[in-house]
Amino acid sequence: MTVALVTGVAGQDGSYLAERLVAEGAEVHGLVREGEHPEGLPREVGLCVGDLGDAEGLADLVRRTRPDEIYNLGGISSVAYSWQHPVETGAVSGLGAVALYDAAWRLQEDSGRTVRVLQASSAEIFGTPDRTPQDEGTTVRPSSPYGAAKAYAHQMAAVYRARGLGVSACVLYNHESPRRPETFVTRKITAAAARIAREGSGTLALGNLDARRDWGWAPDYVDAMVRAVRHPVADDFVVASGATRSVADFVAAAFAAAGVDDWSRHVTVDPRFVRPADPAEQVGDPRRAREELGWGGTIAFDEIVGRMVRHDLALLTV
Ligand code: GDP
Repeated sequence: MTVALVTGVAGQDGSYLAERLVAEGAEVHGLVREGEHPEGLPREVGLCVGDLGDAEGLADLVRRTRPDEIYNLGGISSVAYSWQHPVETGAVSGLGAVALYDAAWRLQEDSGRTVRVLQASSAEIFGTPDRTPQDEGTTVRPSSPYGAAKAYAHQMAAVYRARGLGVSACVLYNHESPRRPETFVTRKITAAAARIAREGSGTLALGNLDARRDWGWAPDYVDAMVRAVRHPVADDFVVASGATRSVADFVAAAFAAAGVDDWSRHVTVDPRFVRPADPAEQVGDPRRAREELGWGGTIAFDEIVGRMVRHDLALLTV
């Protein structure tokens, strides 16, 4: 039986991944923070309380659970938060990943068994990219505390790979679902569109409406991570749809799905939500993932938005 350890199991990706691994019959251990009580996780998941900022605790957890597969999905999940908490971001999203690689490497050395690791890397490592679309060879040059912490973890994945640990990094572009919290612009928009549709009035304050992002469907991105960790040759894989939309496009699609005409009457731009440095466009080239992992997205943009809006409308009905 496969034993898997998932950090960030309480988050969007962690919950989809845990469901998938449990359905496959794996023994799943999930790292949660003190006081965190994830709802809706399969009850088969063994929850372990700990912190990515605690290297000793992580080493202990890996020694105890003896996983075949480690998925590092934990850490600071938003760029916006990282500007407020840059030191915590470095400790948790940067050093925390390295602590896991090191624990995995030691377990592999001591047990003689193969331990495989998946690092959830991020498009933010490219910052304002010097080429479009970005691929695995694009210069790593982050422009936010979040991106810099993820860049360190990304580069250390390659260092441990060269040392003999099968650690793959999926460079994930934005991936959304009804499980996104409203700190992300997509869910903020779909929740507001649903509310405005129900109440017939209201406004939504946003930051940069012109930013363009490559948005995909979260369960598809989890599928890429599973394929990557089990691929015989560990590597970096860009996981993206290959197409961009603007924040304004997302707003238009969400309000249309909620049945609200003329979204511009309901949207204001608030400088509080405009970021100090925000890449104008991020788009990934998922060719390697397609060719090497046989991976592809299954849900188109309008359907992603539609599912999120329908979920938010249903929440208002109960
Ligand atoms: P991120 O790419 O992981 O930071 O995901 P987000 O969903 O938080 O942000 C995606 C894009 O939306 C970025 O370019 C933001 O600057 C932009 N954006 C515009 N208005 C907002 C807002 O009100 N909240 C957030 N979170 N992002 C916004």
